Amino acid sequence: ETDGRILEASSLSVSYGQVSALRDVNLTVREGEIASIIGPNGAGKTTFADTVAGHLPYDGSITYDGREVADVKRSTLVERGMIYCTEKRDLFPFMDVEENLRLGAYRSRDSLEENLEFVYDVFPKLEERRDQEARTMSGGEQQMLALGRGLMGDPELLILDEPTIGLAPVIIDDISDAFEPILDRGVTVLLTEQNATFALNHADTIHLLENGRVVKSGAADEMKGDDYIRETYLGG
Ligand code: ATP
Repeated sequence: ETDGRILEASSLSVSYGQVSALRDVNLTVREGEIASIIGPNGAGKTTFADTVAGHLPYDGSITYDGREVADVKRSTLVERGMIYCTEKRDLFPFMDVEENLRLGAYRSRDSLEENLEFVYDVFPKLEERRDQEARTMSGGEQQMLALGRGLMGDPELLILDEPTIGLAPVIIDDISDAFEPILDRGVTVLLTEQNATFALNHADTIHLLENGRVVKSGAADEMKGDDYIRETYLGG
């Protein structure tokens, strides 16, 4: 019915009062891919992620798994496998690592132990720190924890809003090492990124957003060779 398209935005527009944040966005995410939305500060990346997750009113259409996002409750989106890791991470600061992970198992209690093992395999550091309070973890460790907690929900579509922001290169590598095992599980990833190099190296498909509009879309391999992208986002 959805023909391999897990997410589809058509003529999508979003504004905050008088401020227009997304204008006439058309964008498809296919099952099993990593699709990345890149663009500068204020381009509308977070707005897109928030809208997909059902947090903002919109004009036009956005369907997840064939159903209009505005027509279903946000909790239903989660039950249907849409898991959103926000830029703010939203951890429970006074709970330890493992408690945070267990709380991510909202839709997947039956496979909780198995998922916990998967997360600890992907991020051994989380297992080492399982008893440490989230608030005392470094920024990079907290990002791993947020991603790990998202994985505990057994996502179909995992939305990651700027997971690499403010992180050191070694930690960014730890995050990207997780993509292969995540894809092997059949998860689709929607990644927003200011770090164009990271997105081009790890995503299958790239959508460049500027001033709320998609100005270029294509396979990452093609986009790497695009003159405009190279000059503007990869430093020539
Ligand atoms: P960044 O990388 O800096 O997070 P972004 O690409 O995620 O940027 P958004 O946060 O989606 O961009 O912002 C898009 C536009 O919408 C910006 O002009 C921003 O100022 C505006 N905006 C975002 N949130 C609000 C809000 N709650 N109220 C009013 N304007 C907002």
